[in-house]
Amino acid sequence: MKVLIVEDELIFRRMVKKTLQEAGYDVVEAEDGQAAWELFQREPFQFVITDWMMPGLSGPQLVQKIRTSAQTTYTYIIMLTAMNDKDNVVLGLESGADEYLTKPFNSGELKARVASGTRILKLEEQLIQAREKMEILAMHDGLTGLLNRRAIEEYAEAEFNMASRKEQPLGVILMDIDHFKSVNDKYGHKIGDDTLRQVAQALTADLRKYDRAGRWGGEEFILVLPDIQLTETTSVAERLRARIAEMQIHLENGGAFSIHISLGVACATGQFPSLVKLIDAADQALYQAKQGGRNRVCCFEPS
Ligand code: GH3
Ligand code: MG
Ligand code: MG
Ligand code: MG
Repeated sequence: MKVLIVEDELIFRRMVKKTLQEAGYDVVEAEDGQAAWELFQREPFQFVITDWMMPGLSGPQLVQKIRTSAQTTYTYIIMLTAMNDKDNVVLGLESGADEYLTKPFNSGELKARVASGTRILKLEEQLIQAREKMEILAMHDGLTGLLNRRAIEEYAEAEFNMASRKEQPLGVILMDIDHFKSVNDKYGHKIGDDTLRQVAQALTADLRKYDRAGRWGGEEFILVLPDIQLTETTSVAERLRARIAEMQIHLENGGAFSIHISLGVACATGQFPSLVKLIDAADQALYQAKQGGRNRVCCFEPS
C-alpha cells in the first residue's frame, strides 16, 4: 500500500519513511501541506501520515481538505504532533484525523499504528464490496439472473421519462410462457425452473446497449427497448417467439421438449400519459395473443 508522508522537517520525514519502507510500505513524500494537497488531488492516497505544524497549509487544514474532497474511498490519516497536551490531540482528531502520534515517536509504535489503520481500511473495503453485492442481489431475480420486477420497473420509468423528454419512442414487450403449468406438471418443478432460465437466456441473447430484460412475474417477462418504433419492436418480439419455439429443453433421461410464448407489444410515441398505461397496453396485446391461440405476437391497437 502507498502511504503519503507529509512533514516539513527533513529528519523526521526520513525517519518515518525509513520505518515504513522497512515494514514494506510504498512511501511518497511531501514537504508541506500544500505540496501534499497537490499530490493528493492528482492521486488520492488511502493512507496519509501528516505533521501538525507546517508552514502554509497546516496538518489539520490538510486533513479538512481531504475530508471534504469528493472521494469515493476512505483515507486513513495519522497526525504526527510534537504537542502532546490532550487539548491539541482532541483538536487534531476533531479535524478528521483517525489517529495521532507524538514526536519523537517510537518506530515500533508507528508500524503498529499503520498496521492497525491498514486493517481498518481492509475492513472498510470488504464492507463496500458486501454492500455492492447486496445491491446487485436486491435488483436481480435469483432464479434467472434478470432484473427483478422492482428494478425493471425503475429502469422503465426512467426510460419512459427520458423518451418523453427527448420525444423518442420506447418499446415494451410483455411475454408469457404458454401452458407453463403443464411443463411443471409433466416434467417437474426443477425442469420448470431450467426452462425459465433458458428462456431468460434467450431473451438477453441480442439486446442492445440500453435494452433491459426483466422477470415480471412467475413465467412472465418484460423487455424495455428505448428509442425503437412499433414495427421494429414487433420484429424483435417475432424473432424471440421463433427463437424460443426452436429451443430444446433437455431432460435427464436424454429426451427433450419445446415450449412457446405469447407476446404483447406496445410502443410509446407520446400517446401514453404514463409508464403504467404503456405496460397496460402491452398487457392487453398479450391477452389478445393468448385469446388468438397463443404462440404469437400481438400489437396494441387503440380501440
Ligand atoms: P397460459 O398459456 O394461459 O399462460 O397458461 P399457463 O399454464 O402458463 O398459466 P398459469 O398462470 O395457469 O400457470 C403459470 C404457472 O407458472 C404456474 C406456476 O406454478 C408456474 N410458475 C410460476 N413461477 C414459477 C417458478 O419460479 N418455477 C416454476 N417451475 N414454475 C413457476
Ligand atoms: Mg512541522
Ligand atoms: Mg402467466
Ligand atoms: Mg403462462
